[in-house]
Amino acid sequence: MKYVSTRGGMAPARFTEILLEGLAPDGGLTVPEAGYPRLTPADLAAMRGMKYADLAYAILSRFIDDIPPADLKALIDKTYTKAVYGSDDITPLTKLEPGMYLLGLSNGPTLAFKDMAMQLLGNLFEYVLAKEGRELNILGATSGDTGSAAEYAMRGKKGVRVFMLSPKGKMSPFQTAQMFSLQDPNIFNLAVEGVFDDCQDMVKAVSNDTMFKAKQKIGAVNSINWARVVAQVVYYFKGYFAATKSNDEQVSFAVPSGNFGNIYAGHVARMMGLPIKKLVLATNENNVLDEFFRTGLYRVRKSSETRQTSSPSMDISKASNFERFAYDLTGRRGELVNELWREVEGSGSFDLSETPLWKKMPEYGFVSGSSTHADRVATIRTVHEKYGQLIDTHTADGVKVAQQYREAGVPMIVLETALPAKFEETIIEALNIKPPRPAGFDDIEALPKRFDTMQAKVEELKAYIAARTGL
Ligand SMILES: *Cc1c(COP(=O)(O)O)cnc(C)c1O
Repeated sequence: MKYVSTRGGMAPARFTEILLEGLAPDGGLTVPEAGYPRLTPADLAAMRGMKYADLAYAILSRFIDDIPPADLKALIDKTYTKAVYGSDDITPLTKLEPGMYLLGLSNGPTLAFKDMAMQLLGNLFEYVLAKEGRELNILGATSGDTGSAAEYAMRGKKGVRVFMLSPKGKMSPFQTAQMFSLQDPNIFNLAVEGVFDDCQDMVKAVSNDTMFKAKQKIGAVNSINWARVVAQVVYYFKGYFAATKSNDEQVSFAVPSGNFGNIYAGHVARMMGLPIKKLVLATNENNVLDEFFRTGLYRVRKSSETRQTSSPSMDISKASNFERFAYDLTGRRGELVNELWREVEGSGSFDLSETPLWKKMPEYGFVSGSSTHADRVATIRTVHEKYGQLIDTHTADGVKVAQQYREAGVPMIVLETALPAKFEETIIEALNIKPPRPAGFDDIEALPKRFDTMQAKVEELKAYIAARTGL
């Protein structure tokens, strides 16, 4: 399988060639050149009943054909274990009531769904770097979940260092402790005197310095990484098989969404032939995507318009992976996607409502909705009272919007994207109880912290990196 860019300007490349890259050279995102592999009824029948790692291999091997099969199998087997994800199911399904389920995706090391893909990415990176005799220095900025998921995936991995910037004193004590307690010598936590945007600007400035970037072998692990997307496809299959008895049945999935990475994986699963009726996209107050799926207008927000909410991992101003869906919607026409994103760069938006493309939308099964802080609090309360389950604020956004789209005879599976222990404040507000912490997290705030403090100055960051890499 070869990969091309959504903007049509990249020569076809193999999986391991795009694995370590961010954006395609033309500014687009990588997608399979020949579209998504279609599964036959016999393929689906064989997948039902597979354990998670085998299912992951059955799916990923259709997208990754330049790693020897036995090696790929070994990398997958090493990733999806009870030791990493807490149960043999890996993504356990919980029934709330008949026809309504939660799919647990947040039992990995950082208690959020990003571990589902990031843990595999860590193993893939280590393997490919070793094979090619390369090293990589990952540079990123985080305000919470992504940074910790990346650090827990890359800790102790040979050939990889992580430099992660975060705004000093602005993350929750739990998130800070999770990241800063890592003692691995290849992990560098940088607390920046500033806000998240300062951290992001510093990362951009360093990445735009192409000479420095090449010399220091700088890379990234952002949400547009194709390997992350494709690893997420697996749990849609797992959830489908767990909630149904036969492959004639359909289900719908509700997905708390920010950068459109998670739900895009659901779209890929559906295009491969998994019987998904609806993909229910849930946003919080930052409703860029809800607006598009309701009206056809894709309008990115300015930072000043981006709200800080109690489901912070969905606080986005634009949805980076959305371009991959747009590519499919346009009939895989890179020049058209290129035009649309030029419009976004120019005027901040494009509007498909009056175009023939909008008429094709129903084929893809997307519906959407958004929620507010008050909705989250009310939903956390209802789910606790009615079903005795504690859910986090992001999952609450998913449950709230899922309720609007339930249909008789079609199970609704809400993806649980984080554990409530990560968002204590809102759980206490809703229920007046402290969410329990999984084993090993009891007193993480008290662990010794390893981090360096830095001014929001690009030169200081460059000097720091060069001194650590010796390059
Ligand atoms: C990242 C994240 C999301 C949003 O996922 P996208 O793939 O960006 O749409 C939702 N919930 C949690 C807890 C997250 O960490």
